[in-house]
Amino acid sequence: MTTELLLRDRVAVVTGGASGIGRATALLLARHGARVYAGDYDRIAANAPIFSEAGIVEMECDVRREDHVETLINRAAATGGRLDILVNSAGVGLVKQITDVTEAEWDACLDTNLKGVFLASKHAIRRMKQGAGGSIVNIASNAGLLPRAHDPVYSTSKGALVAFTKSLALCHARDRIRVNCVCPGPVEATRMMDADLDKSPDRAAAVQNLLAASPLARAHARMITPDEVAAAVLYLVSDAALMVTGTAIAIDGGKSLGVPPR
Ligand code: NAD
Repeated sequence: MTTELLLRDRVAVVTGGASGIGRATALLLARHGARVYAGDYDRIAANAPIFSEAGIVEMECDVRREDHVETLINRAAATGGRLDILVNSAGVGLVKQITDVTEAEWDACLDTNLKGVFLASKHAIRRMKQGAGGSIVNIASNAGLLPRAHDPVYSTSKGALVAFTKSLALCHARDRIRVNCVCPGPVEATRMMDADLDKSPDRAAAVQNLLAASPLARAHARMITPDEVAAAVLYLVSDAALMVTGTAIAIDGGKSLGVPPR
């Protein structure tokens, strides 16, 4: 088996596919032979020629809306003839203390990071059950493994996402549907990270603080790349992981292990 075609003829949906981890995952899955449908509520014009060359179909999809999500899943399953893979990467951050969080901000964070995964999983599992099973990978966060003080609402959304992943894994093993999550640490070249760093008065110092909290990132003097997260997703959706379900793989340089040495 050539590694380039690990996913030959598989049909995949990637939410949040326009940017960062979702974009890197869409491109990697396509390179390994999958027919990829990338849904995002924001289109990035520069993606068009790259996605077109990779055979990736871009669709407008707000994961907070069931009608959008259902259309994305149904289009992939109908035109691809099946649905094998769902990667839930759409997500938003919320760095704010709980006393300052508005109801609208809570809803936006939980609706995107959690309800969006529920909606996509619901419609994807219905399709996967009609076929030979499938694989779902949720992009959670180190914050889902070890909650943080600076973003309680985001940490809650990701902690719940890890629990959701494990529960669905238990429910749907009998359908040959595997459900796993990946928990990244600080990932560079993502709009989420850039938005956070842009708010910081001293960007270089903020980067150093992030590296200090992640032992391997610190040792390599760089953040994690979107491609390094996508590589874990590729493993989880491939047949190499056929007996792997309910796991939360930390791609965080050791950030969620505990308190690093000073
Ligand atoms: P990103 O901002 O580059 O990508 C997120 C994508 O999700 C964007 O393209 C955005 O348009 C899309 N999106 C947001 N809300 C949406 C909605 N309602 N409907 C459809 N699309 C929507 O950032 P990223 O880092 O690639 O984020 C991907 C995932 O990784 C997120 O779930 C995030 O929580 C998680 N994550 C990121 C980091 C990091 O350091 N960047 C760390 C841990 C986890």
